[in-house]
Amino acid sequence: MVVFNRLIYLFAFISLSSYVSAQEHSDFKTNEKLRDLYIERVSEQNASFATTYVGEYKSKFQTLYRKRSKDAKYYAENDVYLFEPSSLEYLNTLKNKIAVANQQFDFSGVNLVIAKFPWANAYSTGDGTIAVIPDIVTFYDNEDQLTYLLCHEFAHYFSRHFERQITKTYDYIESDEFKDRVKEINRMEYGKNTSAVALLNDNLYSQRSHSRRYEREADSLGLVLYLNASLCATESVNEVRKLGEMSEEFDKSSVLIFDRLGLPKSAGEPNEMMNIHDAERESKWDLVKSHPDVEQREEWILEEVERRQEEICETAPTDEFLKFKMQMEFESCNILVEYDMVDAALIKSERLRIKYPNSEYLKAISGYCMYQLYFGRKHHELFNYSRMPSENIKDPDLLNVLNSFYFSRLPKLRVAVYDFLKSSYTINQRDGRFLVSYARMMNDMGIEDKGTMTKLKKRYQQFYPNGKFAKYFPYSTKHVNN
Ligand SMILES: [Zn+2]
Repeated sequence: MVVFNRLIYLFAFISLSSYVSAQEHSDFKTNEKLRDLYIERVSEQNASFATTYVGEYKSKFQTLYRKRSKDAKYYAENDVYLFEPSSLEYLNTLKNKIAVANQQFDFSGVNLVIAKFPWANAYSTGDGTIAVIPDIVTFYDNEDQLTYLLCHEFAHYFSRHFERQITKTYDYIESDEFKDRVKEINRMEYGKNTSAVALLNDNLYSQRSHSRRYEREADSLGLVLYLNASLCATESVNEVRKLGEMSEEFDKSSVLIFDRLGLPKSAGEPNEMMNIHDAERESKWDLVKSHPDVEQREEWILEEVERRQEEICETAPTDEFLKFKMQMEFESCNILVEYDMVDAALIKSERLRIKYPNSEYLKAISGYCMYQLYFGRKHHELFNYSRMPSENIKDPDLLNVLNSFYFSRLPKLRVAVYDFLKSSYTINQRDGRFLVSYARMMNDMGIEDKGTMTKLKKRYQQFYPNGKFAKYFPYSTKHVNN
């Protein structure tokens, strides 16, 4: 729940920021009609599941489906689920391709959404909602890989894994074995806690083994759905391989992002500086949450593909796929910023700038992130915006950047961040976050450049004309002639 309170706070506070340069990345905004349609459809779905459920936990499932419906509505209304028309239309064409080739399955209850979370994954909630998180798309090469991902999620839905998993849990809680063990623990004089933990662990262990079985089923049915549409078999194997590669993303980057950012070098080698991971606070999020047992899954699918004597093939990316992928790349950066994970957003944005060197949008993201990190350091709250450097961070670029922000001298850092913003600033810049950061940084440097400040302010007012966010631009009296 914490996540969503935080989201609401962020939306109230940073909604000035969602402006995106039109030439390269159009507004990624929810269409209210599509959103309302989703809410309506998903509540019908849940109501119908609640009435058609046959099993021994009817009242429990009725409560559960009602809750599911409320959750979906909440996620949609609070922009956790995004309903941006062009990207949803693209995902729906992939869904339709699979639906047409698999008419024995009823796809009418499947609702695709894009979910705003700062990690790479996709999931099926059981009521027909299939959520794709933008970051996962950034790892794929072509639309067959993305389609296989969807097929795997469709299979979870058609196999009713949600209902089956919950039923297993209820079965366990209602079992004599469980009840006896609870009674036994209650009778114990000592060691109640340890025994209770052991009981919970046993349950977790059995859930994990079920979830492994469901993954296998989802791959096996998912592959059937996929191959029925005559898609390239090799790409289904590649999709799962990509999931495995995600956690090693940084290996692919040979560019010294640290140098490109012009940050001051801190004394000492990273590993000498890093011996502080006892102090590292709980990490906010796992950046990459891949499906369980990726290697195992790759093996299953490969075996199945070979058994069917499918030919080795390769799919070329379509323009539509590349456009969708770009939207997801930019949006995944934006999501990290909105979750205040500006260290990760900075590295991601700089890596994307290698691919899109002229992107004003990415420059704005990087500039804003640099400013936030500097701001955090200046106000002794850097930990709000970035992880502590630690031995556990295997990405040398990230480690170097964190090192600079945590350990270099503040005046040097100030100059480096100002230089970066200055070199990234153009009059085309339309991102409110960037404009505010640049203005504040000029102020911090004591630079009295009235010309630039006036331009910045005008640019800013162009996008926020009713002065709604004027307080984030606090220099009107000091520097700017009105
Ligand atoms: Zn799965």
